[in-house]
Amino acid sequence: MSTESLNPLVIAQKQIKKACDILGVEESVYELLKEPMRVLEVSIPVQMDDGSIKVFKGYRSQHNDALGPTKGGIRFHPDVTLDEVKALSMWMTFKCGVVGLPYGGAKGGVVVNPKELSNDELQRLSRGYIRAIASIIGPEKDIPAPDVGTNAQIMAWMVDEYNKIVGYNSPAVITGKPLIYGGSKGRVAATGYGVALMAREAVKRLNMDFKDCTVAIQGFGNVGSHAGLSLKRLGAKIIAVCDVYGGIYNEKGIDAEKLVEHVNKTGTVCNFEGTTPITNEELLTMKVDILVLAALENQITSANANEVKAKIICEGANGPTTPEADKILSEKGVFVVPDILANSGGVIVSYFEWVQNLMNYCWTEKEVEERQEIMMVNAFNSIYDLAQQYKVDMRTAAYMISIKRVYEAMKVRGWL
Ligand code: GLU
Repeated sequence: MSTESLNPLVIAQKQIKKACDILGVEESVYELLKEPMRVLEVSIPVQMDDGSIKVFKGYRSQHNDALGPTKGGIRFHPDVTLDEVKALSMWMTFKCGVVGLPYGGAKGGVVVNPKELSNDELQRLSRGYIRAIASIIGPEKDIPAPDVGTNAQIMAWMVDEYNKIVGYNSPAVITGKPLIYGGSKGRVAATGYGVALMAREAVKRLNMDFKDCTVAIQGFGNVGSHAGLSLKRLGAKIIAVCDVYGGIYNEKGIDAEKLVEHVNKTGTVCNFEGTTPITNEELLTMKVDILVLAALENQITSANANEVKAKIICEGANGPTTPEADKILSEKGVFVVPDILANSGGVIVSYFEWVQNLMNYCWTEKEVEERQEIMMVNAFNSIYDLAQQYKVDMRTAAYMISIKRVYEAMKVRGWL
């Protein structure tokens, strides 16, 4: 029987501990980083369309603000737990740190299946959540954004509610907004685009040719679909995709644009013309060059890591690989681009959105994409070099760089 823990908080703590030990920092650093500095748990009463009141549970976890105000998305999902939100907020600290953003990490979550709510109920829940956490967020305090199950429309309702509470327009309080109300060009595609850029950099380091690469994508929501579109743009061949309902396969290639149209019409990748059905497990263990994980946590564990045949894993999701699986993958020579780097495109462009809001200015899509690419490629190169120097995997090197930055900020601020 495996004793592998699938609790994201335990996993995040293991990742931090490992990097702290290699860096040789004092014990108090790990003690400070192993839990969030502040957590708020709220109960949100929402009037349903039939007149009844339903109470939803919500959380906001602010992990560490040594580098700046905390930042991170809000997840609407039935499986949200406090430990998950805490772990996600910790991963945000190190994601912001590793690419050099002036932010700490936070995350919010509400236990709800948004697909089961009407549009009006969803709006009332989103506003209720913001009323419940309004006192601890703000453009200089903590800046939420979208995550699994939330989108630009939900961000617009949330900012509107926040504006009513403070009594003025404050678009910089939340990022990932619609373009018409302070959103940034390139934000919707940013995470998936970044995943494709990081896959490209990994391909270069392995001396492979991107044009010959085959790709499998787990998850076809915002991150997976935009990763697919960008990977196609860069020249790779997508041969398998899956979502919560099932998977599809075509060795000759799947057209990402047409697949997006199909998903918009039917709500799933299943039954896309010219493909044969496959299972999620088959996709994860398929012989491909690049496996993009763009669903949820704990997808590659000690139970299936040995079966992985991909040369590169690019983590669009947060926490898709367990530490035990990491060890197996590293022994097998699979090149893993860790979540805190691979999916940092989202928070990078969120940062650009916040900067534009604070300046009351608006950049072009080209400017946004170019700046995002520079930040991510620079971070990739520093992590790669450190990984070579210390003979560790990319995840450990990413944590080492990030923890060092957070550590230095805590030190200079007199916390240690
Ligand atoms: N939810 C995204 C993430 O996990 C984006 C966070 C943000 O833009 O603040 O990175």
